[in-house]
Amino acid sequence: MQCPQCAGILGETQYENIPVHTCAHCGGEFMTGVALASIVTARETTLPADMQNALADAKPFAGIPESQKQRALNCPSCNCPMTVLNYCGDSGVFVDRCDACHGLWLDQDELEQIQILMERWSSEAPSKLRSIAAQLEESRKTAAQSTQAHFRQSRFAFINALMNRFLDAA
Ligand SMILES: [Zn+2]
Ligand SMILES: [Zn+2]
Repeated sequence: MQCPQCAGILGETQYENIPVHTCAHCGGEFMTGVALASIVTARETTLPADMQNALADAKPFAGIPESQKQRALNCPSCNCPMTVLNYCGDSGVFVDRCDACHGLWLDQDELEQIQILMERWSSEAPSKLRSIAAQLEESRKTAAQSTQAHFRQSRFAFINALMNRFLDAA
C-alpha cells in the first residue's frame, strides 16, 4: 500500500499486538476501526511523558476546522475518498476514515494522542461525573447520532458504564 499523505510505501507493524500499516517516511498509520478501538482500550504501552504533558491541558473540541476539511486523502487500501472525523465527537483529534472500507488514517502521533485522551478520561471522570452527568448524557446522545459505530466505543461506553453505576448506587 502507498501512503495517502506522502506516497511512501506502507509497512506492516504491530501496536499493542494489533497490526497497523505505517509510513516510515511521514509516520502516518492506517488501520481498521476495530483495530483502533482495541488499541485505545488495551493500554499496555506507557506513553512518553512529554507527549502526556503536551496534552495535559487539552479541552474538548467539537466540530471540524476548515483546514482539516480540505485534506481530501484517498484510502491507501481501496483508493476511495476519506472523510475527516473528530475522534469520539469532541476529542479534537482528527482522523481520516474511508467512506467505502471504513479503514482509518492517522497522522504521526495521533494514535498516541487518542490513547492519552482515553486514559486521562478514565482516571478523571469518576470525581467529576456527578456534577456534569446531565451534560454528559446530552453530548453522548448527540455524538451517538452523528458518529459512526466504530467511533462510539471507548469513551462513551465508559461514560455509560459509570453513569449506570451511579444510578445503581442512588
Ligand atoms: Zn507517508
Ligand atoms: Zn478504503
